[in-house]
Amino acid sequence: MLKLDNHPSGRHFLHIPGPSPVPSRILRAISYQTIDHRGPEFGVFGLELLKKIRLLFKSDDPVIIYPASGTGAWEAALVNTLNHGDTVLMYESGHFASLWQRLAQRMGLKTEFISKPGLEGWRGGVDAKAIEERLKADPNHIIKAVCVVHNETSTGVTSDVAAVRAAMDAANHPALLMVDTISGLGSANYEHSAWGVDVTVSGSQKGLMLPPGLSFNTISPKAISASKTATLPKAFWAWDEILEANQTGYFPTTPATNLLYGLSEAIDMILEEGLDNIFARHQKLGLACRAAVEAWGLEILCQDPSVYSPVVTSVLVPDSVDADALRKLIHEKYNLSLGTGLGKLKGKVFRIGHLGDCNELSLLAALSGCEMGLAAYGYSIKASGVVAAQNILR
Ligand SMILES: *Cc1c(COP(=O)(O)O)cnc(C)c1O
Repeated sequence: MLKLDNHPSGRHFLHIPGPSPVPSRILRAISYQTIDHRGPEFGVFGLELLKKIRLLFKSDDPVIIYPASGTGAWEAALVNTLNHGDTVLMYESGHFASLWQRLAQRMGLKTEFISKPGLEGWRGGVDAKAIEERLKADPNHIIKAVCVVHNETSTGVTSDVAAVRAAMDAANHPALLMVDTISGLGSANYEHSAWGVDVTVSGSQKGLMLPPGLSFNTISPKAISASKTATLPKAFWAWDEILEANQTGYFPTTPATNLLYGLSEAIDMILEEGLDNIFARHQKLGLACRAAVEAWGLEILCQDPSVYSPVVTSVLVPDSVDADALRKLIHEKYNLSLGTGLGKLKGKVFRIGHLGDCNELSLLAALSGCEMGLAAYGYSIKASGVVAAQNILR
């Protein structure tokens, strides 16, 4: 058994931006007995699940469910739709966009990565104008797909996907639009169909409040038609056999049965609260978190308030503070886990997750842990962030 005896009392405060805390209602659903995935009950369950999951994406398009982390669904999106040597246009909005780009290269694709110098691109949203200009300069349609990250978990930025769609339309370009909303789905508004997304990539362990282990591709008719001729090698990730089996509620290989129970429960919980209420709750939590950061006298990494993430806040620390040493201290003293700085941001930021099963008091507890940790580290804050956040949440 995992040794967790340094904090024997109370709960662990998991405030990394995924995995996020799993509500007990979902844990209980996961603990139901594993059933025969080829038996009669499973087909009924599977059909209902595959139908209702589409509501999360605001779409009627099919959702492919993989027993994999989000990275698997990134790979699946590419290998199902593209050919060896195809060019994909990606946008460097942060660490996750960079990882997807590296994955695309490893799959044998040519990537064009729109980047800004230094940290500039990591402190704002996807620049749809830059995408439009690049597409307009591609009259022969060499670019086969545009790939962007909706909620950049490394930076705390939620980009405007509708603007990317509009840019592609303005350039009259036929490339597929692929969007990673692994950390956005279920916490920040997302509209697969209205935004004209061809492949939406998502995962279980962030806004959906599930443990890690499931990921998704939601696929438009245009993406399905591209998949009929796409020649990148694929077997496990191939949509065709999955779509075929899904018609009767089953899967071609053994599904993650117990995680699917949890997924079904999570969807019910989300629909009971209502997607719009959930988005409003997250907006408010984000606002309160940013008010705390400003009160402390620290800087929010995202410099464009129009794209602040409702899911995660990245806090830039001054050179005198080592963000990872601060995180370690907070974890040891207060049993609170905060997100680390990824890639270019290593040691420079810590991230406060406020996604999924998070409410006013869970956020205030996390902010309180940060505030006490800053004091223990020897950093003198300007004013209480907890009080500033309370003023918003009251
Ligand atoms: C977490 C995350 C991923 C990676 O997913 P894994 O489940 O770790 O494979 C990709 N993109 C974004 C935006 C994420 O937040």
